[in-house]
Amino acid sequence: MNDVLIILFAANGFDKGAQGLAGAGRRLAGESGGSLRAVVLGEGAETLAQEVARVADAVVVADQAELSEYQPETYLNALAQVCRESKPRAVLLGNDTYSQELTPRLAHRLGGSAAGDGVEVRVDGDALRVGRQVYGGKAHAVLELKKSPAVVWLRARSFAPAAPRETSGDVTRAALDIQADTRTRVVERRREAGGESRLEEARVIVSGGRGIGGPEGFETELRPLAELLGAQLAASRAACDAGWVPPTWQVGQTGKKVTPELYLAVAITGASQHMAGISEAKTIAAINTDPDAPIFKHSRFGIVEDYRKVVPLLREKLKRVLGAGF
Ligand SMILES: Cc1cc2nc3c(=O)[nH]c(=O)nc-3n(C[C@H](O)[C@H](O)[C@H](O)COP(=O)(O)OP(=O)(O)OC[C@H]3O[C@@H](n4cnc5c(N)ncnc54)[C@H](O)[C@@H]3O)c2cc1C
Repeated sequence: MNDVLIILFAANGFDKGAQGLAGAGRRLAGESGGSLRAVVLGEGAETLAQEVARVADAVVVADQAELSEYQPETYLNALAQVCRESKPRAVLLGNDTYSQELTPRLAHRLGGSAAGDGVEVRVDGDALRVGRQVYGGKAHAVLELKKSPAVVWLRARSFAPAAPRETSGDVTRAALDIQADTRTRVVERRREAGGESRLEEARVIVSGGRGIGGPEGFETELRPLAELLGAQLAASRAACDAGWVPPTWQVGQTGKKVTPELYLAVAITGASQHMAGISEAKTIAAINTDPDAPIFKHSRFGIVEDYRKVVPLLREKLKRVLGAGF
């Protein structure tokens, strides 16, 4: 079959990542001459499936009790069943942690091939080609996946969304034979501190590095600035490793890949591993005391100054521009 199957999680809704995944899947299905299918897993899958059906040809709802919450082995069993039935040529996932965990395991179960962190995907004869950034974004590699199905996780938010279809695709409920797998068990779930929404979805990000000097700099200087800008807070690995902010704030090669309209890097040097996470940011601005800091090479706007002097001035200026109420 030449169909493309995208995998979506009900808990994430039809966010920018899911929309980008549908866009990538639609284009790939067009190149293969197949249809775009989707499977939606988890509690609330039915609601998301109706939205996805506006851009996909067929949507499978997998919301059985065993799938109400993410559990890797059980999800893997369910997905392997869906894939064996629909026999897609390619299976696409997003860049959330569930997808990154499932991709290689699903490919192995299906006897296919796997790749991750794709920023482009296209058909080339019998193979699938996946482009990805390497060496912290300094070079671009193209992988050729010859064994079908190709299971690939993409930086989904970088892809343009799919246009809605004139008629919605069919939505069917999967009849899966699922045995809950007990090899691993979720013992606790914790909401991120402050209940911040997901960094990957943020339009504006204020990010701090080691030069912030401690957790109080994030709280007293960066947080008020982020609030004025309606921005999410993030950090370099150095700041996360120091324990100043939660590890979930980390942006970069081993952290989150973000795609904001504006990324303000405060006291971040701009190491290649950090830049790997922000290469899709539309505009980068930086504040750094070192005029030779690599971050300035990637920045549209830059201020060479101590952030403790600049950030309060920026806040004052923003309050004036935004008017009363702030
Ligand atoms: C395999 C691997 C994976 C990695 N993955 C990641 C990753 O995902 N994300 C990541 O971020 N890093 C990652 N790193 C680490 C990366 O190489 C850098 O060490 C890290 O990004 C440095 O963080 P930083 O810029 O905050 O700190 P530093 O390099 O210490 O830079 C601090 C900056 O703050 C400036 N500064 C100091 N004081 C002030 C002040 N008062 N006002 C303004 N500016 C000031 C300094 O001039 C300097 O440029 C990885 C490394 C490896 C080896």
